[in-house]
Amino acid sequence: MHIGIAGIGLVGRVLALNLLQQGHTLTLFDEDSAYGNNAAGMTAAGMLAVFAELETAESAIFEHGKRSISLWPALLEQLDISDAYQLEGSMITAHPQDFSELDHFIETLQAKVEEASTIQLLDKAGIIALEPDLEQHSKAFYIPHEGQVDAQRFMKHSSDYLLAHPDVIWHQETKVESITQGSIHYKKSVENFDWVFDARGLGASEQVENLRGVRGEVFWLDAPEVNITRPTRMLHPRYKIYIVPRPNHRYIIGATEIESEDKSPMSVRSSLELLSAVYSVHTGFAEARIVNMVTNCRPTLKDNLPNIEQENKMTRINGLYRHGYLLAPAIVEQALNEGIYK
Ligand SMILES: Cc1cc2nc3c(=O)[nH]c(=O)nc-3n(C[C@H](O)[C@H](O)[C@H](O)COP(=O)(O)OP(=O)(O)OC[C@H]3O[C@@H](n4cnc5c(N)ncnc54)[C@H](O)[C@@H]3O)c2cc1C
Repeated sequence: MHIGIAGIGLVGRVLALNLLQQGHTLTLFDEDSAYGNNAAGMTAAGMLAVFAELETAESAIFEHGKRSISLWPALLEQLDISDAYQLEGSMITAHPQDFSELDHFIETLQAKVEEASTIQLLDKAGIIALEPDLEQHSKAFYIPHEGQVDAQRFMKHSSDYLLAHPDVIWHQETKVESITQGSIHYKKSVENFDWVFDARGLGASEQVENLRGVRGEVFWLDAPEVNITRPTRMLHPRYKIYIVPRPNHRYIIGATEIESEDKSPMSVRSSLELLSAVYSVHTGFAEARIVNMVTNCRPTLKDNLPNIEQENKMTRINGLYRHGYLLAPAIVEQALNEGIYK
């Protein structure tokens, strides 16, 4: 089939990679350039936190999350970046005055899914054995089967791959005005396809009911004195932060969660909260260098769950909220199976 995809952020790319594997030819549309920064998929920390996200999410995301974790390696292999995937577990800790938060967090996960019984309580010695740099902490939980995709590498390498692919035409900096069954409307013209996908995230709000943005802010820090190797969360009564390690002592520190579609630069309040919290996890962050401060919005539906909408010759996928990396491969698989291959 000749297939059109509007929105080449995270979902658009996962769709494109799957559809090319299945032998289709693609025309891609994005209002951004192929290496631009607009997509939430470019801002994301890329955590595959299938258990930890259950604290606030429906257990429905758990099954999709597990499926995505099993699908990511083949997608990354297609791009020749298998090392952009890590599944070595994650750490959750807190300061002693907040240990009750920590216990409550884990109890919530264990009440939602049976598999959460695999989460291990660690004392100081257990923490040092897994993450020696977290030695100042006396209690933590280790969650096996969690990990991360290096989101920024995925975005860059998928751009390279799709731009070079002989079966792909990519209309960059082309704003799609609307999508109807089998047709993509842009710049006062219309192109017709055997099937079209709307993967515009927050950009689809005129055509997707109850879609809203949830603002998130992250820092990129270069911290040569820190050697944390797994995604690590610190719980706190007011703010929860995560530290996601990238190669060469780079860490993504995030993320705020604010009910707003404002994509303006990070506020002083958010920066103070994120940086003081990260310094309290490891004092080596004091001498870190701030290499980037990024703000974006998570495309979110009323129930905070993803949605697939199927019509004749058209599929819309949206609402991946804070779980895009955790859910996209499984949601795309489901959309293809129940849509174009029905
Ligand atoms: C701060 C932050 C941290 C996050 N961390 C994580 C995490 O650790 N783990 C996780 O699983 N998820 C995380 N996410 C969530 C994840 O990034 C999103 O769920 C995911 O990116 C949504 O994918 P999408 O393709 O629907 O939207 P996007 O990735 O935003 O892509 C939408 C694309 O559509 C294009 N577009 C929009 N309108 C138009 C138009 N009219 N015409 C043409 N093109 C258009 C945009 O330019 C963009 O390229 C995070 C998000 C944020 C903001």
